[in-house]
Amino acid sequence: MRGRVTDPVLPALAWIGLGANLGDARAALAGAVQAMARLPGTDVLRVSSLYRSAPVDATGPDYLNAVAALRTALAPQALLQALQALEQAAGRERPYRNAPRTLDLDVLLYGDQSIATPTLTVPHPRLWERAFVLRPLVELRPGWATPEQLQAVAGQRIECLGAW
Ligand code: AMP
Repeated sequence: MRGRVTDPVLPALAWIGLGANLGDARAALAGAVQAMARLPGTDVLRVSSLYRSAPVDATGPDYLNAVAALRTALAPQALLQALQALEQAAGRERPYRNAPRTLDLDVLLYGDQSIATPTLTVPHPRLWERAFVLRPLVELRPGWATPEQLQAVAGQRIECLGAW
């Protein structure tokens, strides 16, 4: 029987935002990419360049950021749980909102799904407010954001570091 039209088509194309600003951030992001490739039914299709960005709404060291495109058979909630397990494995603690972090993994987009549950909102609600998400996402998907959307985050300090 066919699923409801709101069911995701699996495998789905999911876009993941990666960030870290504590410890060896570059190693944490590289490890996360390798770990995502080992998730069940999941392939890492592409990874953006590495970016360095100033913390937004937060203090602490600069972040390293990237975006990865996954093809995954994990449903959205299962994907979120898997990513949270990777955050925990990287020693992530949440002492307060926007605290510095060893690893942050966000589901930015999941196919063309709109999801609004208590634990998961997709597209990620702050996607369009953050240069550290938009810039690497547009690197992988040129034209995905409008010039106006990119202009809106142009004041945020971010630098492309190139290849990893
Ligand atoms: P953060 O501290 O930025 O890692 O936020 C994690 C919290 O955001 C968790 O409680 C998640 O359930 C929730 N959340 C809601 N939507 C998303 C999303 N698209 N990706 C990741 N976490 C999300």
